[in-house]
Amino acid sequence: MIHCGPMKMLTDTSLRFLFDGIDVRGETVKLGSALVDMLGQQPYSKTVTRLLGEFASAAVLISNNLKYEGRIILQARSSQAITLAMVECSSEGHIRGIAQGDIQQESTDPMSLLEGGQLALTIERDQGQRYQGIVALENGSLAEVLEAYFAQSEQLGAKFWLASDGQTSSGLMLQQLPAQLSEGTAREEQWHHLCTLAETISSAELLDLPSETLLFKLYHEETVTLYPPTPILFKCRCSRERSANTIALLPESEKADILAELGEITLTCELCGTSYRFGPEVLETAASTPEPTDGEARTLH
Ligand SMILES: [Zn+2]
Repeated sequence: MIHCGPMKMLTDTSLRFLFDGIDVRGETVKLGSALVDMLGQQPYSKTVTRLLGEFASAAVLISNNLKYEGRIILQARSSQAITLAMVECSSEGHIRGIAQGDIQQESTDPMSLLEGGQLALTIERDQGQRYQGIVALENGSLAEVLEAYFAQSEQLGAKFWLASDGQTSSGLMLQQLPAQLSEGTAREEQWHHLCTLAETISSAELLDLPSETLLFKLYHEETVTLYPPTPILFKCRCSRERSANTIALLPESEKADILAELGEITLTCELCGTSYRFGPEVLETAASTPEPTDGEARTLH
């Protein structure tokens, strides 16, 4: 039996659920236009869109663990065709991402484009600390790599099922909760039972079925509580201020040369395509020189 309020399952949402009497929580995600918007920024091959689709699903699933304002960033680096694959998802449900390297490369296994690399999972708080964990990208799916990551870095296990066709992407995550309702063998058996049921789902079903239908198919013998869906959308974090900070790091002579040649300095964000234009105000000579303080003035003598 599945309890849920009156709601319609749409794409570009994630959905949290809990099992009655079992210390396991779950999350599903289904991405459509949010993914298409993210992938539309670069001319990716079909394989690379599938790769980034799985990264996006995973980033959304993991971001639902955020207990504060911030974001999680999944970033893989390798010396294979794809040198960088990155997707981040914020606590507000905003995703953005990019792949670099030979982004036109095709392969039957998207993860082979990152073979031998490393995956970093970063948790960034708006206020406060940044935490990063790293796991090797050994032969395996992204789901398997993430399971290895959770097994080594968290005390509680997590399992992932991910699918993407480059236009839509879906995911399912089961995560153990601290023992409250059951302990020992019963707890292990319940976890194993729920995971075994999830193993029966095919990638095609994961992609095609609405989240609610999928959960009913898997867990109709359990009592499952569904929470209201969280909307997910493609939204970049770039800004004029951040772009100005980047330009401030350029040598003065370089800024002057570009301004002399082009009349302006343009910075275009690779993740969303927004262009920020700057004029001569970026030169230090144009900025007002701060008044020296008393202390600084004395050191001049
Ligand atoms: Zn941007």
